[in-house]
Amino acid sequence: MGQTARTTKLLLDFSGRASGGTNAGKREHLRATVDILNAARRFYLDFFLAHTEKLTDRVEVISKKTGEIREGIISADVLLTWAEFQTVETADHPTPLPDWNFAQAFPGFPTRYRRSVIKDAIGKARGYLKATKSWHVSGKKKGRPGVPTASNNPTLYAGTFTLDLDELDLRKSFLRLKVYTGTAWVWRHYPTVYNRFFERRRTEAGWEPESPQLVLGKQGAELHFVQTKTISAKKIVESKQDPELVTVAVDLNVKFLAVITVRQHGRIQATRFVSDKGLDQHRYRHLKRVAKKQWQSGKAVKGERSNQQLWAHVRRQNLDSAHKTARAIVEVCEQYPGCVLIFERLRKIKRKGGSTSRRLNRKHANQLKGKINQLAKEKAYASGVVSVEVNPHGTSQYCSRCGAKGMRFSLVAGQRITGKGGKLFCCSSCHFECQADFNASVNVHHSFFRGAPRKRQRRVRKPRLSEYLVCT
Ligand SMILES: [Zn+2]
Repeated sequence: MGQTARTTKLLLDFSGRASGGTNAGKREHLRATVDILNAARRFYLDFFLAHTEKLTDRVEVISKKTGEIREGIISADVLLTWAEFQTVETADHPTPLPDWNFAQAFPGFPTRYRRSVIKDAIGKARGYLKATKSWHVSGKKKGRPGVPTASNNPTLYAGTFTLDLDELDLRKSFLRLKVYTGTAWVWRHYPTVYNRFFERRRTEAGWEPESPQLVLGKQGAELHFVQTKTISAKKIVESKQDPELVTVAVDLNVKFLAVITVRQHGRIQATRFVSDKGLDQHRYRHLKRVAKKQWQSGKAVKGERSNQQLWAHVRRQNLDSAHKTARAIVEVCEQYPGCVLIFERLRKIKRKGGSTSRRLNRKHANQLKGKINQLAKEKAYASGVVSVEVNPHGTSQYCSRCGAKGMRFSLVAGQRITGKGGKLFCCSSCHFECQADFNASVNVHHSFFRGAPRKRQRRVRKPRLSEYLVCT
């Protein structure tokens, strides 16, 4: 059993007034609200850091499951009550600590917001104390944890906002939010941007909603809805015993971003090639331009950035292909419920040689591999598929059929050119020939089941190349 989370964004409409957006003044209110919440968080962070002994207090805790009483660390809820008692004036307790009078520092601050910043401050202060403690234990001189900053995206708990999403016409939905105008706390309406994708994700079964977060950027603002899902999946060790187990292996490459093979009963059942659709070449051209510009302008001034838009474009493209490839991998997994997803452990090699742009391009290609790996694992887990990493030793060099060492070659004008970067694979022992990435992908299955199959004695028919080059 495990848990996974995902975020879906809902944009607030900051377009022109005529096209249904909000007016400029309201945008200022959001900024003021975030600022005052940060200030309040700073207040409580300082308060807790001045009372660190309370944070690590050991108290008697009654276990909810068994009803047992044992000693444990003080809970965040108890701390919150204690902090409010110390800092806020109430009828029962008219005298808060003189230096820590919250009501005086922040008059009219809504209770819900106050509680949320206290909770945030507790988390931040505890994290800081823990990091400092382990730093002391490690005995290192460098790397002392810094005091946490107070800024955070405000979490909207019930009572600070309303959002009617179950209405018929979502095109006219409004977020009603309690904001700070600079002098007082008022309710304001913010139009949202209608989004079909958001609507589908929100109503999907099995996902539990959490409190949304308000993320205020330079241009716009968005609500981030976090949803969690409980996943029940078998452990790899258990799955491995199952004779009916389906394994999905992925080999990550540059031109074919992923080669996915599905295996059951020792046979390859399906194959899918995910092409990069010219991304590598496209990126190389951009990087060449960056390298040329840098060469022309000489050594960069420290603290200054260049080619920002170009870099952003390259980053966006990489991320987009990573998401799409990961999606393709998960789509294959979803066809075989209970399957296991296998990746190679990513190699950390720093290849030398080549021009600046070529090195840069390789670096980006490697980062893209890592991103696909990470995203595919996350997406697969959300649909109940566990993934595992195997030893990448020799997956591209050995024959996936007999296990002998083979060689790679390319066909250029009908001639066989042997070389390391060849697109095709040829086994010198059993004369098996196939696409090199496909061979590597099949070998990943073998690595998972420990070792390649036994060397076959009998002579097998030499398969034609075309039989293995079916791209989808
Ligand atoms: Zn062979």
